[in-house]
Amino acid sequence: MLERVFPAHEADMQAMREELLQLRAQLAAARQRSEWTQALLTHLQAGVVVCSAAGQILYANPQARHILGRDDLEGQDVLSPAWHMHHPDGRPLERPEHPVARVLLARQPVLDCHLTVQRPDGALRWVTLNALPIPDEQGLPREVVITFLDLTHDEMAMRAAALARETMSRIVQAAPLGICMTDEQGIQEQVNPHYCNFFGYGREEMIGRHFSMVAAEGERQVLSLLHDRFIREGACLQGEWQVRTRGGELKTVLADAVRITGDDGHPRRVSFIIDISQRTKLEQALRRSNEELQHLAITDGLTGLYNRRHIIQRLAEELQRAQRYQAPLSAFLFDLDYFKAINDTHGHAVGDAVLRAVAAMLRHELRGVDLIARYGGEEFLVVLPNVDHDAACVAAERLLLATRELDLGIEGLRLTLSGGVVQARPDEGAERLIQRADLCLYGAKGAGRDRLCA
Ligand code: GH3
Ligand code: MG
Ligand code: MG
Repeated sequence: MLERVFPAHEADMQAMREELLQLRAQLAAARQRSEWTQALLTHLQAGVVVCSAAGQILYANPQARHILGRDDLEGQDVLSPAWHMHHPDGRPLERPEHPVARVLLARQPVLDCHLTVQRPDGALRWVTLNALPIPDEQGLPREVVITFLDLTHDEMAMRAAALARETMSRIVQAAPLGICMTDEQGIQEQVNPHYCNFFGYGREEMIGRHFSMVAAEGERQVLSLLHDRFIREGACLQGEWQVRTRGGELKTVLADAVRITGDDGHPRRVSFIIDISQRTKLEQALRRSNEELQHLAITDGLTGLYNRRHIIQRLAEELQRAQRYQAPLSAFLFDLDYFKAINDTHGHAVGDAVLRAVAAMLRHELRGVDLIARYGGEEFLVVLPNVDHDAACVAAERLLLATRELDLGIEGLRLTLSGGVVQARPDEGAERLIQRADLCLYGAKGAGRDRLCA
């Protein structure tokens, strides 16, 4: 030491100066590293705790205090049950399972240990944790460095997403309407029980097949085109469609759809269907019975010709049309002669058959545009639009002859008619026109029957 303070030679002095310089440099570097470490520990996103081999906390960085929610970490026993540490599945962490205990026992690092820790305020934190031994000269752990990351936000987000998925899945499973998800190409990816039951297929029979498998034959192509447009542009898909079940039954569904984006970023179509077959059937039945009612309201039950009320209404319309277009219109009113005698001689049923035979003859002899009605018991009215008086007389004459020649299926039974032919006058109403025809008819009766009077 004395030689150093009082060097014998200049060379020693020089060596000492250099050594001193080196020491200074080393000291500066060590200080700098210490500053770095300090800054790193202070601002690190991970919690860092150093504990002794006895488990006593020697150091904790600010993030460790923040994650664990307490400032009094130094001096605490890291192995204490007071930390309420658990495995992620909720099982309590036994003392031998504690990462620090394992490090001390195995003298090896413990990595990626997922745990929950309870804060003093009761809040749970999900952490992933590494524990590393710092060995002494004999290689025994002198201290343990624990680093940990707070995964609570990720865990919460994952749990919320899982809960949302679970909730959605339960809603879809229990929904009393059919739900089907298809990919861009229309391949069924998911179907709910109601969808399967409605179509009579098992789930595995539907997944992987094109949705048009349940469309009615005539609607497959248009549905496929609509699907493509829906996937591209989100075009409206709401509507009523015909579908066919596995058993071959044709049903009607009301369908609608939403376009969503799948986990892979590609669009999906989620369809909802409601069975409206029953409603459609009821609507059809209602339409049919309305048509029947309408038919009954305007026709005569025995002959199927128009009834009196309807022919008067139609005649009024035809008269208006004829007046507007200055077209002729004629009417022929006739009555069967001695009809009572037919009833009396052959019975009422034969009388009815004769009335039907006359109706058939009229349909056969007249044109489709002519309106034919049973005006009363054995009285008929024929309205001839666009027909003038002369042409109407020709038509009436034809009917007169045809009536005489009617084969009524009974030996010696012959039928004749007496009728009046009139052409509508300008501004004449239906009632007045019929009155005039009636007068002519009675003229024909008075003149001996089986004739026309114009
Ligand atoms: P006329 O030559 O003067 O017309 O004599 P008619 O016997 O034809 O006339 P009348 O008015 O005396 O008798 C008409 C008969 O037509 C009386 C009625 O019972 C019968 N009749 C009316 N409607 C029906 C029907 O729907 N079925 C049958 N079978 N007979 C009917
Ligand atoms: Mg008569
Ligand atoms: Mg009569």
